[in-house]
Amino acid sequence: MTTVESRSVLRVPNPTTGELNATLPAATAEDVAKAAEQARQVFDSGVWSRLPVRERSAVLLRLAGLMERDAELLARLDSEDAGKPISECRTGDVPGAIESIRWFAEAADKVFGRVAPTGSDSLGLTIREPIGVVAAILPWNYPLAMTAWKVGPALAAGNSLLVKPAEATPRSALHLAGLAAEAGLPDGVLTVLPGYGPVTGTALARSPLVGALSFTGSTATGRRILKDAAETNFKRVSLEMGGKSPQVLMADALAYGDDLIDGMIEAAFLTMGQNCTAGSRILVHRSIADDVLARFTVAARELVIGDPADPRTHIGPLIDRAAFDRVAGAVEAARADGAHIHTAGLPDGLPPRGAYYPPTVVTHAPEDSDVLTKELFGPVVTLQTFASETEAIALANATAYGLAASVWTRDLDAALRLARGIQAGVVSVNSYSEGDITTPFGGWKESGFGGAEKSTNAFEQWTRVKTIWIRSR
Ligand code: NAD
Repeated sequence: MTTVESRSVLRVPNPTTGELNATLPAATAEDVAKAAEQARQVFDSGVWSRLPVRERSAVLLRLAGLMERDAELLARLDSEDAGKPISECRTGDVPGAIESIRWFAEAADKVFGRVAPTGSDSLGLTIREPIGVVAAILPWNYPLAMTAWKVGPALAAGNSLLVKPAEATPRSALHLAGLAAEAGLPDGVLTVLPGYGPVTGTALARSPLVGALSFTGSTATGRRILKDAAETNFKRVSLEMGGKSPQVLMADALAYGDDLIDGMIEAAFLTMGQNCTAGSRILVHRSIADDVLARFTVAARELVIGDPADPRTHIGPLIDRAAFDRVAGAVEAARADGAHIHTAGLPDGLPPRGAYYPPTVVTHAPEDSDVLTKELFGPVVTLQTFASETEAIALANATAYGLAASVWTRDLDAALRLARGIQAGVVSVNSYSEGDITTPFGGWKESGFGGAEKSTNAFEQWTRVKTIWIRSR
């Protein structure tokens, strides 16, 4: 059991080697209260909140430039802390994070208010104002990228932001805060508070000074945070949470050949399947199910399992032993209940301390099994078959989650019917995609609450609407 004393220190182990990447002080409730107070004073001073918006943009654009300068270091920090393949961090997480900061810097002065169509004796204006002190609580699977999705719009809008990175992955957020200072961001506008969820996270969720909190993480924690906000100051809460996303393959999907298989592999195994939008449920028309399974398992066997620091590696270790136990336990339980398990297992010579789990496909899983219903957060996908479009939509929607989905077909009518019929925040057609920085990203059902990330929609999380009513006399 974690004692109160041991919670004052945060140890950040490398999931591959077991060695310590860092030992940091963990923020206590008092630290959070002090940081919130300082953030409030800085906000009220206007040094950032009332800075002309183009000057705020300039600072954030400088920050994006500094991130580019330190891109390799940022990639290494996330790869070492999260066990993510370095090639993913170099080509996905870090460029995505830089793009987010730059895009929101450039969007900052394009958020307009409105004039309401009132009578001619009055003028009804709606303007968007920054909220004040705001907070972000982050997951470990995309440490820098998720930080940047929140830092970009929160700071562009003029807020003072408190960031709590996940226990396992605080270093890229800390480095980002250093770069922000170098870019000219005033002290106290961006404060990174490494710490434990139940201590640092709870203190943020219950802080009376925090006016809005944006969370990315598990559905269970999201529920807790919403309750904490309701019990305290009704801070505005937005939650980006888990998923159990379907990949729907209609009868003609194999027309896409290798593009289909590559897209499915990426959806299933990016970040070892520890990905909120992982396409963890393959739903395939029964006429092509055998072919798809054969081609998919061959491609999964070709993935290189190894040291995440090696640029050739596709599959690194899971974040920790507990994750391994959860994934292995669910697969073993399904096997015991009659499911078929398709995997090539692990190669020899892997780093012995890493919690490696091989890419795995589960077929014939019982309807209520954990592999089909729970977010496993590992490199495991299920495969189910359907005989009609109606059945495909019903299977796709047979989950409490609603984050993402992909649909593969050359039939445009069917694609549109599926895209409209599937209950998810993002449906991609003939690709595995979350769109890009210009498109909103947010889950439905138990995957999301209260707001979207990315695109100009993200400003709704970090600003509030004020009506100014002017009456002529
Ligand atoms: P988690 O919920 O365990 O932790 C997320 C964050 O919440 C961490 O910083 C943690 O310290 C903090 N936390 C934990 N308990 C808390 C509490 N009581 N009060 C306040 N904060 C608390 O999730 P995780 O394991 O870090 O991340 C994996 C989850 O994140 C998965 O479910 C995944 O689907 C989800 N995720 C969602 C998205 C999305 O955009 N929808 C993106 C990435 C990850």
